[in-house]
Amino acid sequence: MSNTMVNFYRGTQGMGVVISVTYDKDRVILDFGAPFTPLSEIYDGTVKPRFRNRVKDALLLERIPAVPGIFTREDLQDLSCQSFEDSDLNTAVFISHLHLDHMSEADKIATQIPVYIHEDGLKLLDALCTVGREKTHRRFSAFRYHEKITIGNISVTPYFSDHPCPGSAGFLIETPDSTIYYSGDIRFHGLNSQKALKELDELSNIKTDLLIVDATTTSPAEFTGELITEMGIYKDAAYLLNGFRGLGVFNQYDRDVAMMARMVQIGQRLNRITVFEPAYAYILNALYGYKAPILLPDLREHPQYVKEMTGWPQVTADEIKAHPDKYLLQNSYGNILTLTDFDGIPGKYFHLFGEPLVAGAKEYGIMLNVIKKLNWEFSSYTNLYSFSHAYPEHLRNMVEKINAKTVVAVHSRNPEKLDPVNSIQFFPTEGCEYILQDGILTKAD
Ligand SMILES: [Zn+2]
Repeated sequence: MSNTMVNFYRGTQGMGVVISVTYDKDRVILDFGAPFTPLSEIYDGTVKPRFRNRVKDALLLERIPAVPGIFTREDLQDLSCQSFEDSDLNTAVFISHLHLDHMSEADKIATQIPVYIHEDGLKLLDALCTVGREKTHRRFSAFRYHEKITIGNISVTPYFSDHPCPGSAGFLIETPDSTIYYSGDIRFHGLNSQKALKELDELSNIKTDLLIVDATTTSPAEFTGELITEMGIYKDAAYLLNGFRGLGVFNQYDRDVAMMARMVQIGQRLNRITVFEPAYAYILNALYGYKAPILLPDLREHPQYVKEMTGWPQVTADEIKAHPDKYLLQNSYGNILTLTDFDGIPGKYFHLFGEPLVAGAKEYGIMLNVIKKLNWEFSSYTNLYSFSHAYPEHLRNMVEKINAKTVVAVHSRNPEKLDPVNSIQFFPTEGCEYILQDGILTKAD
């Protein structure tokens, strides 16, 4: 009889993944994010998160599942979930990457439980905290690719996963009787697809019982059928800016740092200087050690970290106005009014998966209105989800190569549309404990 138990707490019906693998008294938890619901998100910037009641609020709002033994008694207050103090499990949590649907709730876990993030992810987290885009009051532990971490009877080996967020990983979980691979978020059409395919080759040599795979693009709502690669997006932006006499502006997500670095290169190729807001420049420097020129937003008082960015190259709005064809400007939604400085100048705006993340959000309409008032050209690329996730045919290749006995699709609203190739596709009920034996999941009584 196998002792490996798997519980898919979250993620079988969409984004926000929480999975546990337990062997006797040892347990690893994979990812710990709230579901991604941008159109009904409670913390919309107006509603203030509470601190002392944060665990209670998150459980009542179902942002996190009631996983026993990971929240402190003090945080749970009168809720009936088993507390960390009352549990005899030895637990560690592994975060695949810093996108919110994988880690937003990690700061609610008892601080005695180690939470692992890739070392580059930790650098990003630090930078996000400094610029005020993330708050955390706990410590995290670092992992590196291919360096095994042991949690009692369970070992976890992180593998590289190509994703725009630094330090993204999938995890190979080995218990004394089973081998599981959890992909995290994965794609094979990004700039590092060769590296991702090499990792897949390595994984294909390991006999895997269970594959838990990010199957986002199996949902027709999230994949329009238009296969566009990350390189294709950059090429298109560069093509549209080549020979253009006006200003190029792009809006990207602050956690997708590889894209910032890429935009610097694209600027160089186009003979344009890529200019960033201080927060983005700070993050880029934290990961790549490059001090990009900054354009200060017009604020009465700058935050402390900006005051300390003395010695950074600076560009003024007047300089950009005088030679708009010499600049490629990063602009986030919060600073969209900076763009009105360039009224009357021709411009091309590239919405490169920045916030507002989804069309249909109120803010998305406001953004379009501002661009329209400026008479600028607006470009956006397929939908958000396709950019960061494997296309169906690449997914099929991954499932085929790993060739696990059983496959479970997560992170998708239509898991039934996954092509399991030679594996048995299993559809778990969230919150149920399953025994994994010889690659077959069966409900534990
Ligand atoms: Zn995700």
